[in-house]
Amino acid sequence: MQVRCGCGQLSLTFNQAPVTQLICHCDHCREVTMQPSTLVAFFKAEPQGVVGRVINKPYMGGSGRPKAYAACEQCGDYVYADVSVLKGLIGVIGDKILPPFQPQPAAHVWTSQRVVEIADTLPQFPKGPAVRPGVN
Ligand SMILES: [Zn+2]
Ligand SMILES: [Zn+2]
Repeated sequence: MQVRCGCGQLSLTFNQAPVTQLICHCDHCREVTMQPSTLVAFFKAEPQGVVGRVINKPYMGGSGRPKAYAACEQCGDYVYADVSVLKGLIGVIGDKILPPFQPQPAAHVWTSQRVVEIADTLPQFPKGPAVRPGVN
């Protein structure tokens, strides 16, 4: 699976399909992607998977642990998030993933902060997901 920013300076490669995909309604995702909700695909981090220079924008996560969104140093596109509570996973912003990636979200998260109506029947979590991928 290939992930790329707008200018191509920053790219990520994953050999495995995402562990899960979630639609996030949190304020932080909205601020960095400028979309009302954001599809985030969580991949197992792979060595050498990230190529290019990034600027990190740190936030305190809803769980009280830090997270950082990584943008391309050149074009400023936000591409992925490193969430310390999700060990070993990288949360990639869905619209930066190249075909043949198919969005298949499993749930809505952080609906307590949502600003759009939800029209589908996926499970909804007011905060983070009940089961955290990658954490046991
Ligand atoms: Zn770029
Ligand atoms: Zn979010």
